[in-house]
Amino acid sequence: MNRSSPLANVRIVLSHTSHPGNIGATARAMKTMGLSTLYLVNPKSFPDNEADVRASNARDILEQASVVHSLEEALHDTVLAIAMTARPRDLSNRILDTRQAAKALLEHASQSPVALVFGRESSGLTTAEISMCQLTVHIPTNPDYSSLNLAAAVQIMAYELRMVSTETTPIPPQPPAYQLASFNEIELFYRHLEQAMIDSEFLDPRQPKRLMQRIRRMFARTQLEKEEVNILRGILNALEKHRSV
Ligand code: SAH
Repeated sequence: MNRSSPLANVRIVLSHTSHPGNIGATARAMKTMGLSTLYLVNPKSFPDNEADVRASNARDILEQASVVHSLEEALHDTVLAIAMTARPRDLSNRILDTRQAAKALLEHASQSPVALVFGRESSGLTTAEISMCQLTVHIPTNPDYSSLNLAAAVQIMAYELRMVSTETTPIPPQPPAYQLASFNEIELFYRHLEQAMIDSEFLDPRQPKRLMQRIRRMFARTQLEKEEVNILRGILNALEKHRSV
């Protein structure tokens, strides 16, 4: 496989998978389309013989998979994360179709890691997990039965990524002046902002309602750049200093 292909920078993240067979089938779906980077957030059972059997000749993907304890760890250093959801949610991020999502991911993957995040078989992704992503994809299905098997959903997105990656015009890399902020830089900003809102009594931590979710959704629409996060944190620091004199 071409290691320098942007597909190598696309992380497939499975959160809290219950059935090891689905992890194996995901590895197979990925390898057939040229994807190689698998992150498993707290899988119920891994490594597991059932995963190996279902992976068939894609066991190398399982051997190289990263097992982590939180979605934050899986998204470390990514500049774009897209949540895959089988049903509509309240206060949703912008929804893309599968081809638009593949384009958005590959636009950044030539320079930085990006991620596609899949949820649990039983209940999908939590609201907190979706809030860590900037965009959402729903694969159109029969409205009476919209929930695809996890590995089938991975297969559809892996196919879309392959189609976009083999289109003839390569996506031009972004100029460095517009470098996007990474997941961890943005998470530190959210924490800083939340603390500043608590200290200034704008936010009551006993009754937070959905303020942080709304704020995350608003910034998810803006695609914050590194420089902009620095400015926002600088403003918070200056306001805090001003308050304490
Ligand atoms: N019963 C769950 C769905 C679980 S399917 C629910 O109601 O949310 C496991 C995962 O596969 C989902 O979390 C999602 O990431 C992906 N998936 C399944 N069907 C999908 C669809 N139609 N569109 C996008 N993602 C889907």
